[in-house]
Amino acid sequence: MPTTVQAAVAHAGEREFRVEELELRDPGPGEVVVEIDATAFCYSDWIALRGDTGLPGDAYPVVLGHSAVGTVVERGAGARHRVGRRVLITATPECGRCFWCRAGRVDQCAQLFVPPPVIGTLGDGRAVRAPGASATYAERTVIRDIQVFPVDSGLPDPWLAMFGCGVISGMGAVVNVAEVRPGASVLVVGCGQVGLWMIQAARAAGAEVIVAVERLAHRRALAARLGATHVLDPAACDVEEAVRDATGGRGADHGLDAGGSVDSVRTAFAATRLGGVVTLTSYVTRDTTVEFPLFDLALRGRDVRSSQSGRLDMRRDMRRFLPMLEHGVVDAEAMLGRIRPLSAMAETLEAARSRAEPTPVIAG
Ligand SMILES: [Zn+2]
Ligand SMILES: [Zn+2]
Repeated sequence: MPTTVQAAVAHAGEREFRVEELELRDPGPGEVVVEIDATAFCYSDWIALRGDTGLPGDAYPVVLGHSAVGTVVERGAGARHRVGRRVLITATPECGRCFWCRAGRVDQCAQLFVPPPVIGTLGDGRAVRAPGASATYAERTVIRDIQVFPVDSGLPDPWLAMFGCGVISGMGAVVNVAEVRPGASVLVVGCGQVGLWMIQAARAAGAEVIVAVERLAHRRALAARLGATHVLDPAACDVEEAVRDATGGRGADHGLDAGGSVDSVRTAFAATRLGGVVTLTSYVTRDTTVEFPLFDLALRGRDVRSSQSGRLDMRRDMRRFLPMLEHGVVDAEAMLGRIRPLSAMAETLEAARSRAEPTPVIAG
């Protein structure tokens, strides 16, 4: 039986969510219905809401959200998770069968970036789709079983809600992609949720110098509290020069972009030393391009790496990172913004849009 649920629905051309009733369709083969216990709000959904992700206008209305903890309440034919199973939801599926999954590159699974599936209908009969195929900004969602991962953890729901995007994207970028080693120097450009998880992961990995670049003072303060050894305001200093000063004149061993702008990508590249590793995690719009001098790119030894969701492998990374949250190796509580119910979606969006909180969470 289809179920009526409350959902934060994004309509074409609107810059606010409408919290309204959605008739969730039944799960099909290989799908489950998950009751959302808590979901983190991701800044990329503000980009999607304002229409900059390249989603065609006729894909709307949509339900966004891609990082959550919940409970399986219904199971379609052949779905592999039983009713009652506690699960984490992330944006990246793992089909286990495609070329990339078999090659150990789950982050590029052939089932990633599929056309948004229909998850239900509005009162007026219009179909509602789910870009990212996850739709966690709702009381319940219908989702492929390849995109939910059983979790046995006593950690608080709001912490677990951050795992599927912030934790995995930030810590994964440092551990899985950049492979930061003890004694390394690390530059993190942008101190939103991804950048702050990067700083924490770099500190946990034993990085000696961690330079954080951030325009907003409250974020710089948090970056320093969470492990940055140097915090730079790009409006008040020459970042490249300051990074060189902090790294024996060379530039950082690792430059990580978590700023999601052309400028932040350029900064991460330019302030990384020759032979260093540049890790890119975000995008501005699908059409955005960044230019680098070919000489620098081809002959100066910087290794530029792509970090889709921290090159995740959920089962491996839950084993890697959940204990770090559990044992306080990284500070999850400091990453939380306020926890608000779905009905307060307007305030949650404003908290994200104004960058007032590291990770606004929707629960209850
Ligand atoms: Zn996200
Ligand atoms: Zn796959």
